[in-house]
Amino acid sequence: MSRHTQGPLTSTARLAGLSGIAIAAALVCGCSGSNDPAATNGSSEGTGRVGAASGSGKLNIVTTTAMVTDIVTAVAGDRGVVTGLITGNQDPHMFTAGSNDVKKMIGADAVFYTGLMLEGRMADDFARVGRKGNPVFPVTEGLDREKLREPPEFEGHWDPHVWMDVELWSECVAHVAKELGALDAASSDDYVARADEFRKQLTELDGYIKKVIATIPKEQRFLVTAHDAFGYFAQAYGIEVKAIQGISTDSQAAIADINSLVDFIVENKVPAIFVESSVSQKNIEAVIEGCGSRGWTLKIGAELYSDAMGKTGSYEGTYIGMMDHNATKITRSLGGEAPEKGWQGKLSSSEKD
Ligand SMILES: [Zn+2]
Repeated sequence: MSRHTQGPLTSTARLAGLSGIAIAAALVCGCSGSNDPAATNGSSEGTGRVGAASGSGKLNIVTTTAMVTDIVTAVAGDRGVVTGLITGNQDPHMFTAGSNDVKKMIGADAVFYTGLMLEGRMADDFARVGRKGNPVFPVTEGLDREKLREPPEFEGHWDPHVWMDVELWSECVAHVAKELGALDAASSDDYVARADEFRKQLTELDGYIKKVIATIPKEQRFLVTAHDAFGYFAQAYGIEVKAIQGISTDSQAAIADINSLVDFIVENKVPAIFVESSVSQKNIEAVIEGCGSRGWTLKIGAELYSDAMGKTGSYEGTYIGMMDHNATKITRSLGGEAPEKGWQGKLSSSEKD
């Protein structure tokens, strides 16, 4: 459709084009970054950059969010050292790269980010790093634009939260393998093999999520949440999202918003809502009380992972664990059936309960 050639695609295409040029330059001259004071002289093999910055013979790769770091690490395996810039609970939409972050990107053999304007405040940095001759890749670059959401609340931009659909994220994994293979041809078969192995697990995870969400009674299959990140989850797994970030800060308007939310919850007998700190505790209490006064007990569901994963080193600190947590907690809170400890029996009971 023609609208898919406008707006955000332009900027994505621009960056994609830059990274394409960067690869082409690296392949043609067998070197790169000769004008780049941050780069040291690499070996004469391959692109000449591989492992140059780390001195380890491994690819020195810089990534943005934990979800991107997770898939790039899985595909790179022992061929790469991966450094994520956006860690902990940092918000990728608001993240601004510091001079150290930019230095890391300039010194890297490759940079991977989500794209679709998720890391919107880093766009100039990616372009700058690309101009230095470094390959800069949006992992979502290869996705069929027809599969992307373009909801009105994103104001003409694609919804960038594609990791919420495991199948779409799995396609990004394949794209990472393709780009790493182009950079480091000697190991390209290894990248593909690791990506295939990882994607097999993702297919199983996708099946688990579909299966458990389908056990939620159909009339209660509503995800009432303050996150705007769950559009792809809803689309892929057959659950409808009802956003509650709309509760006004104006007290008169807030009462109307709360009343209409209470109506919705009571009418649909939604057992639980999923909130985060951005919605005021006072408003949430008002919603619970409103439901209570109409004889409906509303629970607060577990905290969900949206734009960041759990603690590094924990199961929830992996992409698979994060999605397992979300699907399992949503299902159990809404009256469906899922194992308490999730798909692989690995969910911790303490984390975000
Ligand atoms: Zn987000």
